[in-house]
Amino acid sequence: MHLKPLPPQPIKIGISSCLLGNRVRYDGGLQQDHYITDTLGKFFDFVPVCPEVECGMPVPREPMRLVGDPKNPRLITIKTKIDHTERMHTWAAGRVSELEAENLHGFIFKAKSPSSGMERVKVYDTNNVPQNIGVGLFARAFMDHFPLLPVEEDGRLRDIFLRENFIERIFIYKRWRDLL
Ligand code: SF4
Repeated sequence: MHLKPLPPQPIKIGISSCLLGNRVRYDGGLQQDHYITDTLGKFFDFVPVCPEVECGMPVPREPMRLVGDPKNPRLITIKTKIDHTERMHTWAAGRVSELEAENLHGFIFKAKSPSSGMERVKVYDTNNVPQNIGVGLFARAFMDHFPLLPVEEDGRLRDIFLRENFIERIFIYKRWRDLL
């Protein structure tokens, strides 16, 4: 008796929801990345995540930024100074656990976001001076929870070498996972 080979499994990539053109940004504006949707979208199934909307914030909403200790920053609205740090930490801990069931093969983050940025996010000190050394709160929780998953940012994907490297890491990760 011949066993039928299993159908190929889709390559699932988590992604900051605004990069798909979903109107989840603080100002309700569009931020679609056409290379991601029109080119990578032919090969990958995307799983959108918007930390700020999913943790209960409206669209539009007051913009936020990271403040304080770059290793453990607070997420604070710019004008009214509302501190959303605990809210975001609590939501992110639950969301990364939920994402285990998605069997993701990678994640594409929105650069510079205090929630979704993967690196070089501005963190403001007490004198209101920014340093580009922070990580968005959800991105931090995600990378801590899935340390082996390939991750990248939208801006860095415009560099052909970084892009090829990211895609290669995704396929290597998928082959390893299929093998297991
Ligand atoms: S950057 Fe992140 S939090 Fe901001 S709109 Fe995009 S997905 Fe939502």
